[in-house]
Amino acid sequence: MYAETLTVIFIAVALVGKWLQVPREVLRYRELIVISAIVSLAIFLLIEKSRHRKNHLSLISKSGRQQEASGIELPSSSTPTSFFVTENKTKHKQQQIDTEQRYRLLIQNSTDVITLIDDNGIIKYQSPALEKITGFNPQELKGKNVIDFIHPEDTGRVSKELLDGVADEGKTSPLILHRFLHKNGSWISIESHGTSHLTMPGINGIIINSRDVTERETQRKQLEDANAQLKLLFENVHEAFFSVDMLNNKILQMSPAHSKIYGRGRKEFLDNANLWSEVIHPDDKYLIAGIYQNVEAGMSFTTEYRIIKKDGTIRWIENKLTPTLNHEKRPVRIDGVISDITERKENETQIKEQFRALQKTNYELDRFVYSVSHDLRAPLTSIMGIINLAELENQTEQQRRYLEMIQYSVNRLDSFIKHILSYSKNAKSEITIEPIDFKELLEEIRANLKFIKGTERMKIKATINQNISFRSDRMRLSIILNNLFSNAIKYQDINKNDSYISIDITTTENEVRITVEDNGIGIDKKHLNKIFKMFYRVSSIAPGAGLGLYIVKEAIHKLGGDIQANSAQGEKTIFNITIPNK
Ligand code: ADP
Repeated sequence: MYAETLTVIFIAVALVGKWLQVPREVLRYRELIVISAIVSLAIFLLIEKSRHRKNHLSLISKSGRQQEASGIELPSSSTPTSFFVTENKTKHKQQQIDTEQRYRLLIQNSTDVITLIDDNGIIKYQSPALEKITGFNPQELKGKNVIDFIHPEDTGRVSKELLDGVADEGKTSPLILHRFLHKNGSWISIESHGTSHLTMPGINGIIINSRDVTERETQRKQLEDANAQLKLLFENVHEAFFSVDMLNNKILQMSPAHSKIYGRGRKEFLDNANLWSEVIHPDDKYLIAGIYQNVEAGMSFTTEYRIIKKDGTIRWIENKLTPTLNHEKRPVRIDGVISDITERKENETQIKEQFRALQKTNYELDRFVYSVSHDLRAPLTSIMGIINLAELENQTEQQRRYLEMIQYSVNRLDSFIKHILSYSKNAKSEITIEPIDFKELLEEIRANLKFIKGTERMKIKATINQNISFRSDRMRLSIILNNLFSNAIKYQDINKNDSYISIDITTTENEVRITVEDNGIGIDKKHLNKIFKMFYRVSSIAPGAGLGLYIVKEAIHKLGGDIQANSAQGEKTIFNITIPNK
């Protein structure tokens, strides 16, 4: 190639020399060769330079990826021209593409909404997150004015804050909280900030980054409401609340009710942290003596004491204190609630006085009932004696009937007085615990029953399992069993020839279980829950005042026991009793 070029140049120079008619002696071969050499060298350099010119082309890979390439045309006898891919340049371009893709992915998958608006607020682009947050598809809002979707109460503020914030190119506004319309018509809370890129080619707008903060805002609102309610309570309830910093003996919080309770302003307490104890009535100071012990132990406690108000009046207050200990178990704070309990205290005193007066009256009434009943029994016993004597005399039929009637009435009166005496004994006498011998007690009761009409027809069966000793009040046990036995006799079925009373007694470590059963006239089930009431009577086949079972129940309850009745019309009557072993 070089030789060919040189020959061509040589011929060209010879031809030019001939054409210019340069004399042979002037243009000698030697000069001709030198000139040819210089010219060909110059041409050679030019060719070399042009051969090293870089070539560009775009390569499309099999995967469809476009790759930019640049190369150097190499001299070669074979075609086509070869290229070397220059790696640096390709890498740079690829990085640009990767970055772009990364940003696109970030925007598409971001939970925040990216919005691009022009300087008139017209939406140019919105990221897909819009749909999830607002229900609107980004295409639906494109071309619309963003302000139309902001709550009317917020538009003025949003426009101002956004425009102020993005006044300069590249400047970002502060976070703006506002409401945005949801497709379902509700309003959601959004937090946005914008950045101005109005002059940036390809953007020419304001980029707004928005986040759904509805849940956070709802919680904040709830918290605010709760706080407002608490504050309202704190300010308005009659109770006074306070918090004291124990380490610095400083009042941290004090509700306005203090002034009402103490008659002293908040400031007075703030100036003197010991004022609360200084105003305690001197006679009640001892009541708060243990206060610091409880505080040290971190125990909540309540004290009641009197205070002297500023105007000198004395009030009762209740102070509920809750100490807080730090990790070293040292009290760091006390929270307390103070209430004026003067009225309650006055009522309590009044009730106590009334109770004492009532107790006294009750006692006197019991005594009166007892003495009247007792006093009445003496003449009654005399009358009964005289009737017995009169019955021994000869009487006419008429007189005999009269005597019978008198005896019936006197017996009724006697039974009534006996019941009143039992009631009175049960009500006023103290419980006297002693060992009980049930065998001996039953014998005594049977002896008493002899005087009741109809006993002679009854068979009395007793089973006593007293392997374990039993202690209780003998007088009350006697009242209970006497009444149950006399009822069984009174309400026996006179049409039966096998009338009986059966008693079963079993003692245990804890109690005695007594079952009294008879086969008398029975009690209709509908009366069963009422027979223990005072003056309640079911049958009038026998004299009575409806007091027997009432006294039985009262006496059993006094001993801490229980009684249940089970019967039906014409059926057996069973009383099940349990009384604690003392
Ligand atoms: P009283 O015997 O004075 O009427 P009680 O309080 O002893 O009063 O009894 C209430 C009622 O219960 C009686 O009127 C009677 O009808 C019924 N009653 C009590 N015990 C028996 C019994 N063992 N059998 C049938 N009825 C009874």
